[in-house]
Amino acid sequence: MKTRILFLIVMFTGLYTIAQNVNNIQMPELLNIQKREIIRVPDILGYQTLKCDFHMHTIFSDGIVWPTVRVDEAYNEGLDAIAITDHIENNPSKPHVGGDDNSAYEIALPRAKQKNIILIHAGEITRSMVPGHFNALFVSNTNALDTPDFMDAFKAAREQGAYVIWNHPGWKAQQPDTCKWWDLHTDLYNKGLFHAIEVFNEKEWYPIALDWCIDKDLAPVSTSDIHGITSEFYNLDTYHRPMTLVLAKDRSEEAVREALYANRTIAWFGNNLAGKAEYLDAFFKASVTTEYLDETKKGKRYIVKNTSDVPFELFSDAINVTVPANGETMITVPDKLKNEFSIKNLHTKSAEYLIVSLNFNK
Ligand SMILES: [Zn+2]
Ligand SMILES: [Zn+2]
Repeated sequence: MKTRILFLIVMFTGLYTIAQNVNNIQMPELLNIQKREIIRVPDILGYQTLKCDFHMHTIFSDGIVWPTVRVDEAYNEGLDAIAITDHIENNPSKPHVGGDDNSAYEIALPRAKQKNIILIHAGEITRSMVPGHFNALFVSNTNALDTPDFMDAFKAAREQGAYVIWNHPGWKAQQPDTCKWWDLHTDLYNKGLFHAIEVFNEKEWYPIALDWCIDKDLAPVSTSDIHGITSEFYNLDTYHRPMTLVLAKDRSEEAVREALYANRTIAWFGNNLAGKAEYLDAFFKASVTTEYLDETKKGKRYIVKNTSDVPFELFSDAINVTVPANGETMITVPDKLKNEFSIKNLHTKSAEYLIVSLNFNK
């Protein structure tokens, strides 16, 4: 009897297993393995170099993605901090998604905490030129910036302690002829109502805006202003998305805020860095080392190594070479070389490059 019961149990268990396999076979190998990119940039001058994108859109304005997607993209691409900056005024999706400008932040925040991404509460003040578009970061209530008069929006941003960035100053839809600083910008600047300028937006670089930043003590930033999906829009196999490197005391929202107000930023777009010479110099020196190799008829040979994701285009009277990202190259140094190189992709002004000397001590 016992044997018979055991036989029945084994038989039914077997049948159950077969039945289950016929109805539902799991194939997890089809799923993407979650992988976070590592962006290689040096920590410099005693600060942590945070990788940040302060301009992007979601379905809560004219973007096409749900807010959590922005967090997932940032995580996958190796960023530390993002700000979702949906348009505050005249938002075409409002009839469908509701009219609360804080929604995107509130929806994305739990995901950001889960993924360890710093999410900054923000919105884009979207006005015709002048003054144009401005991102307000570190706001507490984006709805308060939706005012008939743009000056009231700036005042509301200030009341909330917002950090304000002038967006895409040379965008052709608003400045068809040139990238121009208007009298109204002087007025806003004199009142301390904005603190930074996008020298790069999406796929556009505005060299003159770097001069404005350096001359007027404003922070240069670079942003994606992404509306679609980053991996579809950008060539991420070759470049990281445009971003702002923030030299922060630690990896926290408060440290990002402190660093921004202190103008400790470097704009990074494609293979280019733009910012204060002091920061670019420290970035270069922390990335590049030279090592003596041998002596040839043409001069001493050195290996030049670069441990960062930014290549360096070295240019001098006798040497014109690119030190590849995460790579090395050999250079032959003639005896009478003037040890002074322009780095053609490190911009300290619209028409000025970082000047460095390399260590050629044997
Ligand atoms: Zn805009
Ligand atoms: Zn935008």
